[in-house]
Amino acid sequence: MDAGLDKVEGILEKEVAIVDGIDISGPWNRMFEQRVIWEYTPELIEKIASLPGAESFAWCYQCAKCVPVCPVDQVGDYGPRKLYRMAQTGVDLLNHDALWLCTTCMNCVRVCKKVVDMVKIMPAAREQAVLNGFVPEELQTAFENTAKYGNPLGQSQRKRAAWTKKSDVPVPIMKDVKRAEVLWYVGSYPSYHPRGIDASLAAARIFNALGVDFAILGREEKDDGDSQRLAGELGLFEMLAEHNLKVFEKYDWDLMVVTGPHEYNAFKKEYKERFGFDRPIQHYTQFLADRLDQLKPMLKHEIPLKVTFHDPCYLGRHHGEYDAPRALLQAIPGLELVEMGRCRENGYCCGGGGGGMWLDSFTINHTTMRLSERRVLEAVAYGADVLAVCCPFEVSRFEDAAKSTGNDQLKVLDILELLDMSMRGVGLAA
Ligand code: SF4
Ligand code: SF4
Repeated sequence: MDAGLDKVEGILEKEVAIVDGIDISGPWNRMFEQRVIWEYTPELIEKIASLPGAESFAWCYQCAKCVPVCPVDQVGDYGPRKLYRMAQTGVDLLNHDALWLCTTCMNCVRVCKKVVDMVKIMPAAREQAVLNGFVPEELQTAFENTAKYGNPLGQSQRKRAAWTKKSDVPVPIMKDVKRAEVLWYVGSYPSYHPRGIDASLAAARIFNALGVDFAILGREEKDDGDSQRLAGELGLFEMLAEHNLKVFEKYDWDLMVVTGPHEYNAFKKEYKERFGFDRPIQHYTQFLADRLDQLKPMLKHEIPLKVTFHDPCYLGRHHGEYDAPRALLQAIPGLELVEMGRCRENGYCCGGGGGGMWLDSFTINHTTMRLSERRVLEAVAYGADVLAVCCPFEVSRFEDAAKSTGNDQLKVLDILELLDMSMRGVGLAA
């Protein structure tokens, strides 16, 4: 017998054992000791599951289907199964960095047979953590900016419509016109971020070309607050919703068009379920796809580029809209649309959802690379010249990621910009 094996802990064996005349002495009858399962800590699972909205945390039966689809696990060590296991083995998630890594992308909920719903668990658990004073600093800054200025970028509320001065077409303000068929809710990043403004200027040109009777809210508009809610600031979300709903009701309009999927989720789902706001709302891709017969003849200039499309989690998985953005891209002459492996229902996440937009420096300490970098590498691997997006969080995220991964040749463009380029023939790459 190999004497060295005797040293292995937790293994039992009889030196001499003969059963029915068969010699199973030594290693041949080796058994493992009973694992000590009673040291698990159900209290820490209950601590999460007892929070209103987080009940499903306790339903996990460790099947592990959620782990390979979790975008954070692709660049780290994550997923609902692992969070449950952490709590089970003594980690208090309400006081642990892992609480802030989930982007509420919903891919795990899609595959979980027990419907362990991270989109509900995360805001409930984070709200408790925020109340306990456990919030990453950069997220706290975004909360404070939103509370003080009405937008997470910390820009002046009075300058919310300043971008319209750069527009070469009219951008009416509701306060002046009082009524418009379309209320265009612009959003924070399309109002303030330079690359968001590029998309807003493109949208204004497209709406004007289509003869849309539209108006924006200008300085009366405040952030929708949904990402802050998902990051644990329910009170802030409610405050913003109260303000926005009052403004929405002040004016006469038939349809709301939003630039961003997060605003779409806020108004279509959260404002509706929580405050009974039930008005027609479309994401801009849906609005324009419905007018494709009119728009298509205007797309006169070829864009002879290989374009891949990143499905935003909050338009795709959260609301089932996969076709409208693709219909718009396919209407552009010369453009070749290539799909990445992770697309549509299984689309990868840019890392910006659920408060991730304001946690980049924090998250990178817990992952091998940013989710946006992982996605850019995928777009490059598929040979794309352009990574097309339709969420205002994504343009800057992916542009930064293209730079940091040494892939400057990859252009990141909002679908609005691509449509505008095809309409006007300017800004086209050689
Ligand atoms: S898929 Fe659902 S039940 Fe299975 S391990 Fe993940 S959270 Fe638990
Ligand atoms: S919601 Fe997305 S990021 Fe969060 S645990 Fe599920 S798959 Fe991972």
